[in-house]
Amino acid sequence: MRMKVDELLCTGHGRCAKFAPGVFTLDDAGFNTAAGETVDVPAGQEDDATKAMKACPERAISLAD
Ligand code: SF4
Repeated sequence: MRMKVDELLCTGHGRCAKFAPGVFTLDDAGFNTAAGETVDVPAGQEDDATKAMKACPERAISLAD
């Protein structure tokens, strides 16, 4: 599973890292460090990543591929 994080939509709410700390991390300003990139979701982290995707208030996270 791969997810992409839209760098224009991410406004730094930080909810992604709360729901999926094994997938998403935040920079010092609270933005997803993968903004503008695609992330390989590690095996076993799919449910957390999906929760994070749904929890993002800006809908900045989406499935890739
Ligand atoms: S929850 Fe969404 S808007 Fe907030 S930091 Fe994560 S990706 Fe960005």
